[in-house]
Amino acid sequence: MELKVRKIKNGVVIDHIDPGKGMMIYKALNLPKDVLVTMAINVPSKKKGRKDILKIENVEIKKEDFDKLSLISPDVTINIIKNGEVVRKLKPQIPKKIEGILKCTNPNCITHYENVKGEFIVESKNPLKIRCYYCERFLNKLIFE
Ligand SMILES: [Zn+2]
Repeated sequence: MELKVRKIKNGVVIDHIDPGKGMMIYKALNLPKDVLVTMAINVPSKKKGRKDILKIENVEIKKEDFDKLSLISPDVTINIIKNGEVVRKLKPQIPKKIEGILKCTNPNCITHYENVKGEFIVESKNPLKIRCYYCERFLNKLIFE
């Protein structure tokens, strides 16, 4: 079966998503409900074997979204589409420091009780190890705000 995903005119194509992570990325982006999204899952890929792809129409992607994408699936490429053409191709990098975006997984962390924005230090990218600046514990999973 040949997979045909229609081209989008304006928006963002997130390519090279680790297979199975497309839905997690979709949820993390927290898009408005009326945004048109096409998701392709387990698409054959020369580079990765399999990959997921998200096509999101008529949105722009923010800096914090780049950070989320890099944390969920470090190989992603982001194609910005304008008038049917790829105008920019971007590869988000895992940041050294993360502000907001994530929630600390330590239930006793002060960030859950006081009105402070979470801050996290990326101590290792592969394997991904993220430490909370406040309680100094490592996150045991990614929970987005
Ligand atoms: Zn913490």
